[in-house]
Amino acid sequence: MKRLLLHTCCAPCAIYVIKKLTKEFSVSIFFYDPNIHPRREYNQRRDEMRGYAQKIGLDFQEGEYDSIRWLTATQGLENEPERGRRCDVCFDLRLAKTASQAKAEQYDVWATVLTISPHKDAERINAIGNRLAGQYGITFLDGDWKKQDGFKTASRFSRAENFYRQDYCGCLYSKAEKERVKHDRLKIYADKII
Ligand code: SF4
Repeated sequence: MKRLLLHTCCAPCAIYVIKKLTKEFSVSIFFYDPNIHPRREYNQRRDEMRGYAQKIGLDFQEGEYDSIRWLTATQGLENEPERGRRCDVCFDLRLAKTASQAKAEQYDVWATVLTISPHKDAERINAIGNRLAGQYGITFLDGDWKKQDGFKTASRFSRAENFYRQDYCGCLYSKAEKERVKHDRLKIYADKII
C-alpha cells in the first residue's frame, strides 16, 4: 500500500476523508494548524483528532503551533472575509508544511481534508496543493471531498462519534466575525421583544 500523509484541521472534517482514503492508502495524520485561535481551542481540536487517530490505529503527527508565523504571514489581511485572500495565505502555509513533511519522510503522496467544508473553495485549495506538489516534488492527491454527499456523511459520522464541533473556521478573525454575527442576531431578537 502507498503511504499517504493527510493534513487535517479537526476530527469532524477528517473522519469521512480518513474512512475513504484508508481503503486505498496507508494513512498518517498530520495536524498542522497554527491558524487556530486561541490555544485552548487548538488543544481541543488537536486532542479530538489525536484521540480518533489512536482509536482507529493511525499514526498521528503534530506540527509546531507557530502562531506568530501565521500572524506574520496574514498581516494586512485582517479585514478579508472568509474565502478571501487571507484564506489563500492560510491554506498555502499549512499545505506547504505538509508537502515538506511528506517529502522529508518519503511518503508517496499527500492530501488535505480542507475541501470537505462547504465554506471552502476546492478549486483554490487544489490549485495550491498541485503547485506545492511541483515545488516539493511529491504528488498531491486532490479532491473535492464535500461532493457526493461527503459533507453530509461527515456530519453523520461526526455525530455518531460525538466529536466536539466548533462554530467558527479557526483564526481569531473568523472567531470575531462569528461573534459579531451572533451579537447582531441577539440584538435583532432583543429589539423585537422589548
Ligand atoms: S477563515 Fe479559516 S481558512 Fe480563512 S484565514 Fe481564518 S482560519 Fe484560515
